[in-house]
Amino acid sequence: MSEPASGSSPEDTPAARAARAARAAQAAQACPACPACGESALAIWRTVPGSDPALPGDYALARCADCGSAVTLDPAPSEAHEAGAYGGGAPRGSQLAAPVLRAFDRRRLTFLARAGARPPGRLLDVGAGRGRFVAQARAAGWDAAGIEPSLRGVTGARAQGIELQQAGIEDAAVAPGSLQAATLWHVLEHLDDPGGAIERIAGWLAPGGLLVVGVPNLASIQARAGGPRWFHLDVPRHRTHFTVAGLHALLRRHGLQPVATHHLLAEHNPFGLWVSLVSRATRTPSWLYHALKRNAPLRSRDLPITAAALPLVPVAIAAELAFALGRRGGTVAVVARRE
Ligand SMILES: [Zn+2]
Repeated sequence: MSEPASGSSPEDTPAARAARAARAAQAAQACPACPACGESALAIWRTVPGSDPALPGDYALARCADCGSAVTLDPAPSEAHEAGAYGGGAPRGSQLAAPVLRAFDRRRLTFLARAGARPPGRLLDVGAGRGRFVAQARAAGWDAAGIEPSLRGVTGARAQGIELQQAGIEDAAVAPGSLQAATLWHVLEHLDDPGGAIERIAGWLAPGGLLVVGVPNLASIQARAGGPRWFHLDVPRHRTHFTVAGLHALLRRHGLQPVATHHLLAEHNPFGLWVSLVSRATRTPSWLYHALKRNAPLRSRDLPITAAALPLVPVAIAAELAFALGRRGGTVAVVARRE
C-alpha cells in the first residue's frame, strides 16, 4: 500500500493482474492488524471488479477473522475521487431529488436529538461536500460548520452562501474539546487511516459530545446478495468495508461509546439493495446510478433490463425494512458519545 498510485486506470491484462495479486499479498503481510477492531491480522478474501466504469480492473480485498470488516488492498488510482461517478456536475434529476435529500439530512439531526444532542451547540460536518447538511443544521439552530478537502465542494458551498474550511481531517484547524456534535457521513470508508481520523475527531468533541458515523454495512444481507457487485462496495474508493462490530470496536478504541445503531435508512438502503440485485443482470455495474451521475450512457442495453426490474422497488423497500428489524441493514448510522 506504500506504492504511489499510478495516475492511470489499472490495466486489465494477465500481467497487470498478476502484479496486483503479488502486491496485494505483500500488502497483506505489511498490514498486521485489522483497521477496524485492531484485533487480528487480515487474510486475503476475494478479488472484485472496480465498481465504477471509469475505474476498471480487479481489486484484492482482505478480511478480518474477528470482526468481519475488510479492506481494499490495491491502492486507488490518484484520480479516483475526481473520475467517473465522482466527476462532478449535477446528476440527472437533482432538482427533483433536492427536497428528498433535505429530508434525509433532517433525519441525521434526529439521530443526534434522540441521543440527547440538541441545538444550540457547535456541530461540525466532516467531509461536508457542498455544505447541504451544514445548511440544514444551521436552519435547525446549530452553530454548524464544515470541513471539506475538495476545492470543488468548497466552491460549490460558497455558491450557496456557505463557507467551509478546505481541509482534510489530518490538517483541519478545530479547537480541541470544542464540539457538541460531529457528523461523518459516508466518509470514513474512504480514508486510508480510519483510526487516525476517529482519534482526531474524538479530540475535537467536548466530553459527552456525540459523533454520528454513517457507513455501508459489510455484514448486511444486501452485501451478501450483491457479492462482488454490491452497490455500496464502491471499490477502489472504499478503503475499509466495515461491519457494525468492526465500527463499534474502532469507536471504543478511541474513547467513543456507541449509544445507538440505526439500520433503517431510507437514504441508502432500499436503493442499494435494488441496484445490487439489478446489477447482477446489467453489463455496467449499478447502471442506473452511473446513468444518473452522467457516467454511463442512457441509451444502453442495461436500460430495458433496469426498467423491467422497476416492479422490484417496493419489494426492496419491504425487504430492507425487514433486514433493518433483524439489524442487518445495508448501511448503518452509529451514534457514539465521547467519554
Ligand atoms: Zn477486525
